[in-house]
Amino acid sequence: MLAAPLSPVRCDVATGACMVFNAYGTWPDRSFCKVGEAAFPSTEQELVDIVAHGVKNRMKMKVVSNSAHSFPKFACPGGTSGLVISTAKYSSRVVINASSMTVTADSGVELSRLLQEIGSHGLALPSSPYWNGISLGGLLSTGSHGSSLMGKGSAVHEYVKAMTMVVPATEQEGFAKIVKITDQDEDFMNAAKVSLGVLGVISQVTLSLQPIFKRSVTKFEASDINLEREILEFGKNHEFGDVSWYPSKYKVIYRADDRVPVSTSGDGVNDFTGFQPTLATAVEAQRILEEGFEISGDHTGKCATGLVQTQALFATGEGFKSSGGVFIGYPVVGFQHKIQSSGGCQASLSRQLVCPWDPTVRGLFYHQTTVSISVDKIQDFITDVKTLRALNPAALCGVDLYNGFLMRYVRASSAYLGKQTDAVDVDITYYRARSGNTPRLNEDVLEEVEQMALFKYGGLPHWGKNRNIAFGTHTAAKYPKLQKFLVVKSKFDPDGFFSSEWSDFALGISGGSSNLPHCALEGECVCSLDSHCAPENYYFCRPGRVYTDAQVCRFVPPGTA
Ligand SMILES: Cc1cc2nc3c(=O)[nH]c(=O)nc-3n(C[C@H](O)[C@H](O)[C@H](O)COP(=O)(O)OP(=O)(O)OC[C@H]3O[C@@H](n4cnc5c(N)ncnc54)[C@H](O)[C@@H]3O)c2cc1C
Repeated sequence: MLAAPLSPVRCDVATGACMVFNAYGTWPDRSFCKVGEAAFPSTEQELVDIVAHGVKNRMKMKVVSNSAHSFPKFACPGGTSGLVISTAKYSSRVVINASSMTVTADSGVELSRLLQEIGSHGLALPSSPYWNGISLGGLLSTGSHGSSLMGKGSAVHEYVKAMTMVVPATEQEGFAKIVKITDQDEDFMNAAKVSLGVLGVISQVTLSLQPIFKRSVTKFEASDINLEREILEFGKNHEFGDVSWYPSKYKVIYRADDRVPVSTSGDGVNDFTGFQPTLATAVEAQRILEEGFEISGDHTGKCATGLVQTQALFATGEGFKSSGGVFIGYPVVGFQHKIQSSGGCQASLSRQLVCPWDPTVRGLFYHQTTVSISVDKIQDFITDVKTLRALNPAALCGVDLYNGFLMRYVRASSAYLGKQTDAVDVDITYYRARSGNTPRLNEDVLEEVEQMALFKYGGLPHWGKNRNIAFGTHTAAKYPKLQKFLVVKSKFDPDGFFSSEWSDFALGISGGSSNLPHCALEGECVCSLDSHCAPENYYFCRPGRVYTDAQVCRFVPPGTA
């Protein structure tokens, strides 16, 4: 069967009613996002017209990309009569200016195409997220990044020189207008470069580039015995380095990844295995196996499978390919645009070959906890996780099935909603049950790690990942310049057309977390009552074991309390 992947905006032809989904088919709170209208502008003028239409009719508005790869519900206008503006068709313009070393692109342009165009002109964008199936507007809005502690760091928004935004306006101005922001307008730029979509629609973006360079990548395994002492040194020594930590295995895979001159021999490619078109039957089988471990409470099964999977991936270069298109060992040397980011499954036209998280098959379904922990606290965080691990190492095997704890480097930013200090971003992916009422195997352990990262160490959650407890009341304390952001927001969109109940909650402006039964199972709340967990399945709200201020859902079988 041939068909493009599902669009995040799906409308009923008969009724015209539309809904917005993220790429996983399920928002964190499992609610549906109904909208009154959907628009697919392809030019800046159409963008202005559609925002004017929304303002004139006093509609809540949100922008969504062609694929909606963010977990949180930022792209949902809220209510049922809002207007969703898709950038799926707003992607024609990519203009390279070789003399000023810049690229200007429409916000709907996919990262894969952007990097390809930049590289083919002999230029390089120094950093980018690892997954290239996302849009320029979407990745900027959530502060997305790669890994680097050097220069400007790893976030793409650090390279924004200018952008245009379409924002609400008065009736006299025609209800919508274009605002041009350059790096000379510090206040506006600091707000606009990470804006969560609440200021208006990013239209075009100009990024500053560098002359093209190559990278040399070598991955190697090591014991995690010195991880807390080595992690910062490693980041300082390798411009694009990262670290995958497998706590249950006491093991780390370091990625030594450095800039090398273009004269260095090698034309390698990064085709990360997890982002390739994958047989639907294979991802379904993987999920069935994982569900089996969950149902039978078999964490040793997860440990064994995780070990086999990690070893197989490592032995095959995890998708890195040497010059001939086959992995023959490290180092893999290649041009920046072929190494910095990868993808492939987003372009698959076969419904039998999908991204592993594609909701049209019963494949991988997971939560993500992704938190940037300041460099002065990361050692203590790692030490705490090791102390927790010592109590039951196998309880952490679940993350081995999702490449462990991916630890990447990010730099302090002038963006009001960007990172406040240099930090290590800890990215943890883990099983999510099909039903929101079903507890997970060893749920308490990752909940404790999540709360340690967010609350004990005050980490900053990735705006495009994470469960709801990561956002809300803590935002003001974590972002000292939040007020400055809100002042710009009130200038660009004084009536809050681009704000929803959910984005107000995330920014800590209003609302609170859920208090419903089972709310802690999916990170809708931190439990304070047993009913927030699943007492009917013997999961009760208990204090953390190492971070005792944490409140987690723990399995306490009858007779063992
Ligand atoms: C497999 C995978 C790998 C990932 N890897 C990384 C990684 O390496 N590093 C990293 O930092 N993140 C990573 N992410 C997260 C990802 O970068 C972010 O979630 C990103 O925001 C997704 O972009 P999108 O184009 O899908 O935007 P969407 O999910 O559609 O939108 C995200 C936000 O941007 C807003 N928005 C989108 N376009 C516009 C616009 N034109 N104007 C105004 N607002 C807009 C939306 O309203 C929403 O608030 C990954 C995600 C996945 C699924």
